[in-house]
Amino acid sequence: MAKRDYYEILLVERTATDEEIKKSYRKLAIKFHPDKNPGDKEAEEKFKELSEAYEVLSDAQKRAAYDQYGHGAFDPRARARSGGGGFHDPFDIFREAFGSGGNIFDEFFGGAQRADPNGPQRGSDLRYDMQITFEDAVLGTEKEITINKLDQCEQCHGSGREADSKVKTCPTCQGRGQVVTARGIFSIAQTCSRCAGTGRIIENPCKVCRGAGRRERSTKITLRIPAGVDTGARLRSTGNGEAGVRGGPPGDLYVVLHAKPNEIFQREGDDLICEVPISFVQAALGSDIEVPTLKARETIKIHPGTQTGTVFRLKGKGVKNVQGYGHGDLHVRVVVEVPSKLNPAQKAKLQEFAELCDANVNPISHGFFEKAKNLFR
Ligand SMILES: [Zn+2]
Ligand SMILES: [Zn+2]
Repeated sequence: MAKRDYYEILLVERTATDEEIKKSYRKLAIKFHPDKNPGDKEAEEKFKELSEAYEVLSDAQKRAAYDQYGHGAFDPRARARSGGGGFHDPFDIFREAFGSGGNIFDEFFGGAQRADPNGPQRGSDLRYDMQITFEDAVLGTEKEITINKLDQCEQCHGSGREADSKVKTCPTCQGRGQVVTARGIFSIAQTCSRCAGTGRIIENPCKVCRGAGRRERSTKITLRIPAGVDTGARLRSTGNGEAGVRGGPPGDLYVVLHAKPNEIFQREGDDLICEVPISFVQAALGSDIEVPTLKARETIKIHPGTQTGTVFRLKGKGVKNVQGYGHGDLHVRVVVEVPSKLNPAQKAKLQEFAELCDANVNPISHGFFEKAKNLFR
């Protein structure tokens, strides 16, 4: 089944504010909550769909990615591997909405859906937005970027403990990572607060990372930007996301490119459009004119009587296709510049010229006024 649009699911406009999204989500989530619809599979599906849509649209970065790439922005395989690590927990909002009594929702989202808290966890993927020039996008380049991210702690190599430290089973939860309490007809499993769900207590945590196994560090990464990219292109730098936890693999870094516009060339996919002004005399008499291309200047022939807006196609002089499918074309559109700021001598010559003109000289305007004349007959 095709996935439904997240905005449609949440019944909001694409331009909705965060507040509007939150409000609509609360309303719908309460309506379709499994506790209110016991045994109703459809309501359960709707509730899951809602949670997923809200997870994305309530996060500015994910929402931007979704707006740009649709569902493709979130590779489901990458999500499964991340164990939900970097994702917003949709229950935060319920805790807020219902006060501290909101624990009831923990049961529905209980342990089964969460990855093993003691197991290795993949690090989160990261997104980095980068501005590049038109030239860099079209011709390709290499760039070094510096990002701050959670890297493996260099002191304990990710273990979170000092070399001589022992690890013991958490006495509060007996290593299960969860504490179960009865509340009315429900039994509620909550993450053990003593061991933060890991089931283990480190007697002597690493002094550098205080037991986390990861530390924020600034890291330099060299990126190769291929020729032909454009705004919205994503580059994946495998393994350059956040470090994993307990031996899990690192996430990936996604660099989203934003190419600045150029004063001379306008881009349309792999094609380039360039407007070249020519003089009224060049257009009338014909001329060889020089036009810029990405590599060098080229000469094109303007025939006598060329009109403004005429487009000349220079095949293969556009942008190299990023996937290697040849090059686009360069479209040169000539724009005839009407002479202005004429001195008296120039005016006199043009006046003289006008007197020599007849319908043959300007067939287009002559024909137009002939047609207009017939309009009111
Ligand atoms: Zn450490
Ligand atoms: Zn515990």
